[in-house]
Amino acid sequence: MKTTHFDPRTPIDESCFAHDIVQQRDAIPFLDLQRQTETLRPSIEKSVDAVIRSAAFIGGPHVDKFEIDFAAYCETKYCIGVGSGTDALFLVLKALGVGLGDEVITVPNTFVATAATVVHTGASVVFVGIDPETSCISLGEIEAAITPRTKAIIPVHLFGHPCDMQPIMDLAERHRLFVLEDAAQAHGATYAGRKVGSLGHAAAFSFYPGKNLGAYGDGGAITTSDKALASKIRKLRDHGRIDKYVHEQFGFNSRLDALQAAVLSVKLRHLDSWNARRREVAARYDSLLSGIADLTLPKHAENAEPVWHLYSVRTPRRAALQAALDDAEISYGMHYPVPLHLQPAWSSLTGQPISKGVFPVVERHASQLLSLPMHESIRNDEVDTVARVVRSVFN
Ligand SMILES: *Cc1c(COP(=O)(O)O)cnc(C)c1O
Repeated sequence: MKTTHFDPRTPIDESCFAHDIVQQRDAIPFLDLQRQTETLRPSIEKSVDAVIRSAAFIGGPHVDKFEIDFAAYCETKYCIGVGSGTDALFLVLKALGVGLGDEVITVPNTFVATAATVVHTGASVVFVGIDPETSCISLGEIEAAITPRTKAIIPVHLFGHPCDMQPIMDLAERHRLFVLEDAAQAHGATYAGRKVGSLGHAAAFSFYPGKNLGAYGDGGAITTSDKALASKIRKLRDHGRIDKYVHEQFGFNSRLDALQAAVLSVKLRHLDSWNARRREVAARYDSLLSGIADLTLPKHAENAEPVWHLYSVRTPRRAALQAALDDAEISYGMHYPVPLHLQPAWSSLTGQPISKGVFPVVERHASQLLSLPMHESIRNDEVDTVARVVRSVFN
């Protein structure tokens, strides 16, 4: 199958109707969840079976256990499991009271959820530019964008690379702003020796199956060490419930279910070794692909230890690179080819035409980036094949 865009929503296990749907697989897939599952199957089955036996499907001991373990992993006091990474972002903003008339600063080079959740609170999204090296939010541009209406900043640890958080937190403190980490791509990454998820006032994680820590369906979590905030979010995710039949406020239904928690608890034990393998793969790509004039490799900051959710290169010759990868049946992704400030959703929302040229670095990156196969189960010979095909384009 020739894939241009990796679509993680493609069904990955069709064994129950294998007689009529035979999934074509690329020679080298972008992500291989089947390989991962094979090594875990006995422990996952045991864990899932325990949930089924207990019949505690919403809340209960499996969710509690995962929340405690994930908070400890992220070096925070609290973790609240929710329905998705999108819900995690939204619920933090709601718990902070962000709404109509407020402004939230974030970047346009991210998954749509980062900005969509702000829109759904009624607040305005204020986009700022990025650091051309790390693709993370630019400190100088945050400072320039702050107004009396600014309520929060959402730095995105894009591709698993932690943002430069200390100066952001200092700035936020001076202006009394909340910092919500979008950590959906960065489970386990560290910044100045501290875990992502513990760096801002709160953080949103996604357990979408393709993330570094992925469930077998949708899931998400919020980490924070702020007790009052944690307690607000806990209520908001469960209809504002404070007691049986008693609702302190109108909330939402967004709970991590026990089956997903059971899967995540098993996988959490492997996360560090999977991230270590991703670092090896990134280092291998780095050494095999270095020294190509027209190819920019992902860089990381000195004080950051990324977890390589994606290995995204940039080249002005992307079309040629795509053609070569297609020919070799190597699948790849693009994160993200349409920056958020250029999304048609804005024109439907505001009636404003899309304004091109406002974020030249973001727009240039969007037209040049391409994510190579990256996951913990990829073999060295596959990495070598990908690198050989990439190199062939530039010779
Ligand atoms: C995946 C992702 C989200 C949303 O998570 P879901 O679990 O899919 O709702 C938000 N932000 C970023 C940067 C993401 O990569």
